[in-house]
Amino acid sequence: MSNHLMNTYARLPVSFVKGQGALLHDSEGKTYIDGISGIAVCSLGHAHPAISDAICAQSQTLLHTSNLYQIDKQQQLADKLCELSGMEQAFFCNSGAEANETAIKIARKYANQKGISNAKIIVMENSFHGRTMATLSATGNEKVHDGFYPLVQGFERVPFDNIAAVEALQNDQDIVAILVEPVQGEGGVHVPKEGYLKALRDICDRNEWLLMLDEIQTGIGRTGKWFAHQYEGIKPDVLSLAKALGNGVPIGASLVSGRATGMLVPGNHGTTFGGNPLACAAGLAVVETLEVHNHIEHVAIKGEQLLAKFKQSLDGIDTVVDIRGKGFMVGIQLNKPCGELVAKALEKGALINVTRGDTIRLLPTFVMTQEQTDTLVTIVSDLVKEFAQTNS
Ligand SMILES: *Cc1c(COP(=O)(O)O)cnc(C)c1O
Repeated sequence: MSNHLMNTYARLPVSFVKGQGALLHDSEGKTYIDGISGIAVCSLGHAHPAISDAICAQSQTLLHTSNLYQIDKQQQLADKLCELSGMEQAFFCNSGAEANETAIKIARKYANQKGISNAKIIVMENSFHGRTMATLSATGNEKVHDGFYPLVQGFERVPFDNIAAVEALQNDQDIVAILVEPVQGEGGVHVPKEGYLKALRDICDRNEWLLMLDEIQTGIGRTGKWFAHQYEGIKPDVLSLAKALGNGVPIGASLVSGRATGMLVPGNHGTTFGGNPLACAAGLAVVETLEVHNHIEHVAIKGEQLLAKFKQSLDGIDTVVDIRGKGFMVGIQLNKPCGELVAKALEKGALINVTRGDTIRLLPTFVMTQEQTDTLVTIVSDLVKEFAQTNS
């Protein structure tokens, strides 16, 4: 293996050479069921014909011009995303961290207009917002901070899913926004109580704060609606998207509405690659494909079935602390560290993820067949049962 790569990942000794739908094939010819989708990216599975056709066609026409010029596909994708979300404007970038950076800059600009020089954004414990300096500072995980002090200032941290903790900050005149994930992903698949986002929306309205939702993982159908906040019938002021938007082609987006609309003007923000014709052609194909095949309705239904299957097959096993999730975002929390299960699942032919040390996270593709779903449930359940026996 090449040692010319920075050692930023403890990589597993497997290399995939080909994918097809919910399956991946490695260099030795072994086949795997993909239970992680490249961390919520390849929702439409691998080598989806509609996506590869769109990318091929675009590459033969025009890959890149510049945001100095009009880009038709970028405008079309903005129209589509605004139509689906009720938001008003979009800015396209290349990753989730960049989408959140945009959100943070919008909050700072908003503060600036209000004459607040020490702007603060409320963020949550256990959150994840990215690896750039501002987004890692917003992230609620010391492991992400370690070694990178001093952090970017201007974040006020409170416990997740706790309205009282946010209300307690209402007299702080420096606060201008809340940044929150509708379901915490990296933090271990934590679904807040019903009404949480709606209550945050009310607090933001009362205090003229921006509600900024990080839907980088939960957005584009992952939880069974286009955007997870739609379960609560609310609309954010800023919405961060990325991951599944390009099904593997890097693209992020920051959408705004209400008070945040028009906040950024020429000279405030920019990007060389963001929203180029290739990325937007992929984004448009993803959105159209999800729509045409009603994938998201299926995720809502099949997600509940998936959760029920795990609850049934793992019923009565002490090692299992909790099984939770929404749509195709599933967390199985065990009572001890279980990182070793990732390699063991690979041996058995499944890609899974363990986050926060003790929580198995599944983010499967939307295109799994019933049989593939059952295989995934069986492999993961068997692993947990074996783990329970050998570690008790
Ligand atoms: C993945 C993720 C990010 C960071 O996205 P990158 O594309 O890796 O920069 C930010 N927020 C959430 C909720 C995520 O899941």
